[in-house]
Amino acid sequence: MVIEYVGQIIRQNIADMRERRYEKAGIGSSYLFRVDQNTIIDATKCGNLSRFINHSCSPNCYAKIITVESQKKIVIYSRQSIGINEEITYDYKFPIEDTKIPCLCGAEACRGSLN
Ligand SMILES: [Zn+2]
Repeated sequence: MVIEYVGQIIRQNIADMRERRYEKAGIGSSYLFRVDQNTIIDATKCGNLSRFINHSCSPNCYAKIITVESQKKIVIYSRQSIGINEEITYDYKFPIEDTKIPCLCGAEACRGSLN
């Protein structure tokens, strides 16, 4: 385990409202992390270091939803040994959309977009 993805636990309707508000404010919605169909963790305004972990198409970590005392949590785990000063990354696995967000991860196997 590397770190838990921490933020405010919100429902879909609140996430939709905040997404519109964040986009209006130019913040974007990249700190909204889906846990399940109706639960999202929002690390836009409160969270920990996990919110700064970048996406990579060839990552050294992965995100997994686990249940602890009947509460779902997002935890980042390593896939391999990680060296000192090596950047920690995971695949954001954004849903496929028509409007593409370009990926700048630089990996050889880069898919070209985040979604
Ligand atoms: Zn990429």
